[in-house]
Amino acid sequence: MSSPSLPSSCFTSAAVRRWKPSPFICGAAALHAGAAAALAVQPGAWPWAVGSVAASHLALTAAGLWPRSALLGPNWTRLPEPVGRRIALTIDDGPDPEVTPRVLDLLDRFDARATFFCIGELARRHPQLVEAIVARGHAVENHSEHHRLTFSLFGPRAMKREIAAGQRTLTEIAGVAPRFFRAPAGLRNPFLEPALCSLGLQLASWTRRGFDTRAQEAGAITRRLLDGLAPRDILLVHDGHAARDARGEPLVLEVLPPLLRAAADNDLQWATLRACLDDQTGHP
Ligand SMILES: [Zn+2]
Repeated sequence: MSSPSLPSSCFTSAAVRRWKPSPFICGAAALHAGAAAALAVQPGAWPWAVGSVAASHLALTAAGLWPRSALLGPNWTRLPEPVGRRIALTIDDGPDPEVTPRVLDLLDRFDARATFFCIGELARRHPQLVEAIVARGHAVENHSEHHRLTFSLFGPRAMKREIAAGQRTLTEIAGVAPRFFRAPAGLRNPFLEPALCSLGLQLASWTRRGFDTRAQEAGAITRRLLDGLAPRDILLVHDGHAARDARGEPLVLEVLPPLLRAAADNDLQWATLRACLDDQTGHP
C-alpha cells in the first residue's frame, strides 16, 4: 500500500489550522520583551531581567512536562461535548505482533471501538497489524515515527520532521491520515503546537492512565482506570511496551476484560476520538 509519489497534502488531515499562541505563551513572550526593554532603559536592572526570563523558561518547561496541561495549546484530556454516554479507549506504542492481535480480539468480543496511537517505525515493521486495526473498525492515530524519549527536547524543525514522518508512514499503511497526535510519554515543548497546526493534527492526552507499562499487577491498573469512570473519559493503556505478570502474560490483556465489562454495565459506549471530533465539527 506504499505510495511514495503521493503529494504531501495527502498526509495532512483536512483540518489544517492557523497557529494562535496560547495566552500562556503570549505572556512568556511579553515578559521577554519587557525584560529587553527594561535592560535598554536601565542596564542595572539586569538581575531582574535575567531572573524573570529564566523563570518564564522554567514555567514553559514545566507546562511541557505536564501531559494533561493545555497551557501550550489545545489538548484533549476529555471528549468534547455533546458526547452522550461515550468514552474513549486509547492504546499506545504498538503495533505489537504478540499483543495487538489479542487486544483486537478482546475489543471484538465486547463490540468496542478504540483509538490506536501507533509508532511509525513499528507500523512499517508490521503493516498487516495496522491494516487489521482499521479493517476491524478502529482508528489509527500518530504517536510519532520513532517514539524518541528526547522528543520534548527537539527544536521546531526536528519536531515537525518526526511528526510528519509518522504521519506519512501511518497514512500510507492505514490508507487514511491520522487526525490526532500524542507525544511520546506525553512530554512536549512550545514548538509542538505550531507543528501540529501545520499538519492538521490535534493533540490528545487522557483523563486517566493505568501505568500499565510499569505496574506489577493487573488489579492496580484496572482500579486506576475505573476509579470515577464517567462519560467523556479518555483512558490510556498500551499494546506496546506492555508490562507482564510473573507468567510473562501482558497485563493489558488481563485489564481489558473487566474494563470493557464495566463500561457495558454502566451503559457507556466506546467511541474513537475521530468519531467525536466529527460530531464536534459537524462533518467527517
Ligand atoms: Zn508512547
